[in-house]
Amino acid sequence: MSGHTENLAAAGQFLRRFADETTGHFIDGRFEVPTGAETFDNLTPVDNSTLGRVAQGTAEDVDRACEAALAAFAEWRDMPGAARKKLLNNFADRIVERAEEIALVESMDCGQPIRFMKQAAIRGAENFRFFADKAPEATNGQSLYQDQHTNFTMRTPVGPVGIITPWNTPFMLATWKIAPALAAGCTVVHKPAEMSPLSAMILAEIAHAAGIPDGVWNTVNGFGEVAGKRLTEHPAVRAVALVGESATGMHIMRQAAATLKRVHFELGGKNPILVFDDADFDRALDAVVFMIYSLNGQRCTSSSRLIIQNGIKERFMSALAERVANLSVGHPLDPATEVGPLVSREHFDKVMSYMDIAGTDGANIAVGGVARADLGTGNYVAPTLFTEADNTMRIAREEIFGPVLTAMTFDTEEEAVMLANDTPYGLAGYVWTTDTGRTMRLAKRLEAGMLWFNSENNRNLPSPFGGMKASGVGRDGGDYSFDFYMETKNVCIAHDLHTMPVLGR
Ligand code: NAD
Repeated sequence: MSGHTENLAAAGQFLRRFADETTGHFIDGRFEVPTGAETFDNLTPVDNSTLGRVAQGTAEDVDRACEAALAAFAEWRDMPGAARKKLLNNFADRIVERAEEIALVESMDCGQPIRFMKQAAIRGAENFRFFADKAPEATNGQSLYQDQHTNFTMRTPVGPVGIITPWNTPFMLATWKIAPALAAGCTVVHKPAEMSPLSAMILAEIAHAAGIPDGVWNTVNGFGEVAGKRLTEHPAVRAVALVGESATGMHIMRQAAATLKRVHFELGGKNPILVFDDADFDRALDAVVFMIYSLNGQRCTSSSRLIIQNGIKERFMSALAERVANLSVGHPLDPATEVGPLVSREHFDKVMSYMDIAGTDGANIAVGGVARADLGTGNYVAPTLFTEADNTMRIAREEIFGPVLTAMTFDTEEEAVMLANDTPYGLAGYVWTTDTGRTMRLAKRLEAGMLWFNSENNRNLPSPFGGMKASGVGRDGGDYSFDFYMETKNVCIAHDLHTMPVLGR
């Protein structure tokens, strides 16, 4: 990736077609903008100007996509795993070929700094390769032997699935959800977030170019309340995977109830990072800064609650405040930028509202707390640090989803656990300590689907990814993904040795 000016020029080239032509849908192997389709403007967080018009998918558009996915299902299900593996690896190669385009378009569409988006395409390709390799074994099961019977299990794909994704890291998350569905043998209807539709269209183009059969991959753009809702209600769709807000998960559970769909939710978080007096000070400081201020704080696993032990509080907080004040906020295509603009004006207003809420609640705004209007008309917020907070305050309870950290203190391990768990959410938790016994105690007691000790969020594709409580239902990753996208069937075969129960002889 080059300098800011070169990035701007290259992004301009890649974005031109989205400005010239309405971004539509990809249904049954065809790119289309339905006649008379209503459209909406896709604004860039950089200055809130439009990047182009996007079609608003209707219930009828979603119906056609679901019917295409249903029609394509049997052939895709019955394709040998090795053939699916080849296609998905081909898909990954094509992602890598378009990596620069994906990174630049994604940065301009959702405001994430290019320093992080550079990896988005590569990680997306890794997701495809990982699940491609697992495709041939996806149907494998267990052998469960009894003296007079043998049971074995096999897995079969559930059918067409709906995949609904958010705007924070749209490309990476779409590949993370869609790759295992395809590897399992499911066909897909994808509904990308309305605020970041562009990289989803690039993905659909790659699907087409990679030879994924017509109808196996469909993309319908539009709003959650219309296109997303219909996708969760369509009778042909057997399962719905959502990455989004907890409230959206609740809506979808209701919407999908009438057709008894299987649901998988990766939702919000208010993740604690516990720093004990015995922690490696420098590494803990790096992790605290990275896990909330990277990706604009628009990250489900961001550590938005710092819970720090009183012994090191003073030294740590003063070093932290210095680092936060020093973060480089700017245009997402500038390689020096560490924090970019928030995805939309609406989201910016929501994040900014917590600056007042912090004051009303009685917290201290140690750093930031203001908009960065000096950077232009984009959605720029100064990285913010709230101190003197407690767990009853809204800034400690609600997911702000911006570059905003709420800090509070504790004396004992017991108190730290109580504070960490006192939240409606349970996605991730981070702990910094050099005490092994404490590590083991906290691993058991902290209520979160994923815990990282002495580490930032580390990606391991076979590991289970997901949350407890209001943070989600189900797990992704490795075989966990196949458990969602596949039915497990038990087959029982008698050895002809057992006594048959006899009636009516
Ligand atoms: P959102 O819930 O507003 O939207 C997510 C998707 O759901 C969008 O495509 C939207 O159009 C669709 N949608 C909205 N209402 C719907 C409905 N009634 N029926 C069907 N679809 C509907 O979330 P967002 O604001 O785009 O993303 C941010 C949220 O996502 C945050 O809460 C964040 O924590 C969460 N997130 C979670 C994870 C995770 O792995 N746990 C990862 C990334 C983001």
